[in-house]
Amino acid sequence: MTNPSLSVECPHCGLLTARFIDHCRNCGYKLWPSSVMAAAAFKVWRDADPSRAMASRFDPLLVVGGLIFLYGVVGWVLVEDVRMYPVETPPTEEAHH
Ligand SMILES: [Zn+2]
Repeated sequence: MTNPSLSVECPHCGLLTARFIDHCRNCGYKLWPSSVMAAAAFKVWRDADPSRAMASRFDPLLVVGGLIFLYGVVGWVLVEDVRMYPVETPPTEEAHH
């Protein structure tokens, strides 16, 4: 489900873009004087309604993609870790406590 109020029509190219990102992602038109102002505006918008607390400034698809990417990196690191440090500790090691 997409939140329509998180999108806005770009005054320059007329295409929908993320409302709280400082630049239009279609044409690069500067929607906000700075990303700090865009973030501040988003905070005000979000705090105006508790149901928006979970909303993200960024495109939900980008967030999901980022999570999948992170998951992949973590999985890759763990697999590499197992390969680099194979379990070869002798069982007798436990007796020295
Ligand atoms: Zn635009």
